[in-house]
Amino acid sequence: MTCKNEKHYDALALFSGGLDSILSVKVLQAQGLSVLALHFVSPFYGTPDKVGFWRREYGIDVRPVVLERDYLRTVLLSPKHGYGKCLNPCVDCHAYMVRMAKALMPAYGARIIITGEVVGQRPMSQRRDAMNSVRKDAAAEDVLLRPLSAKVMEPSEVEKRGLVDRERLYGFSGRSRVAQMELAAELGITKIPTPAGGCMLTEIAPSARYLKVLRAIADPGPEDFELCNQGRVYWADGHMLVVGRNKIGNERLRALVQDTDLLFDLRDYPSPVTIGRQFPGKPWPEEVMRDAATFAASFSPKALREAPGQAVVVAVTCGGTTREFSVLPSRVTPLGWAEPRWEDVRAERKELVTV
Ligand code: SF4
Repeated sequence: MTCKNEKHYDALALFSGGLDSILSVKVLQAQGLSVLALHFVSPFYGTPDKVGFWRREYGIDVRPVVLERDYLRTVLLSPKHGYGKCLNPCVDCHAYMVRMAKALMPAYGARIIITGEVVGQRPMSQRRDAMNSVRKDAAAEDVLLRPLSAKVMEPSEVEKRGLVDRERLYGFSGRSRVAQMELAAELGITKIPTPAGGCMLTEIAPSARYLKVLRAIADPGPEDFELCNQGRVYWADGHMLVVGRNKIGNERLRALVQDTDLLFDLRDYPSPVTIGRQFPGKPWPEEVMRDAATFAASFSPKALREAPGQAVVVAVTCGGTTREFSVLPSRVTPLGWAEPRWEDVRAERKELVTV
């Protein structure tokens, strides 16, 4: 039954905004079915600011769904099916999204969940066995439909019950994009989104930053990963320091400051927003603060230009208390602050699944 305040939709879609997700919605719409697209948002993916564009350009209703801490715990920290080439737990991630969509079905009176998956298109999550695992893990056998690959799969319950016309679904498979481009032309879609690549869990540099956070904090929240997205991230001796890249980055970092964070600020010169995150139960010792102050001061071009070779004062503030350190700015310090590199940390992925 539809909730009083929600519009009715026949189907809910997992919607990334990529071409396949758009096509899967349009295929159902072409059968006269109404579809609400669910756009999942996390620190790693999601562009909720495009909701208006999708509505205008493709005639698709989109609702952003923000993934919270539970996603981090159950999917990112301990994926049953493991990770892809970086920190991407794609099979578990898909299953989680389908489960969430299933939980939302009663609110819209929906009877179908669709995805834009195409058999054989992606090495990890779109193998036939992985797609079956998603359906099983999400307990969605009776509602899940892949409109673009339906004809190369066993008929789904949705088709058997006559909720959609199988003859008007598709049988795409493999990595080629030709069939999708032809279908897009047939459906009058002229604005083709650039190929996905939107998930930072599939990229090496961000994955290295996230992995360090996952290893350092027992129960990390979205805000810890968001911090990694907004600045240059350095680690030394288990401590994380984030330095603003530019004006916009500085503003975003400022909005992410927590009560227990250490804020590094040059007393007499402008400097980028610099945050030392103190993880629960792990306050920074004084020598670490001093070392970080030395490093942080090296990001002030004005201090380096106007006071070369001279000590500067760095104020370190936490929860209303400020301490000052007089330091010689330097990128080379005893603790050795460095950006995490995937080749150095990738082996630590194995430790996560046993947490
Ligand atoms: S690419 Fe990212 S968003 Fe997509 S299934 Fe994999 S982990 Fe999830």
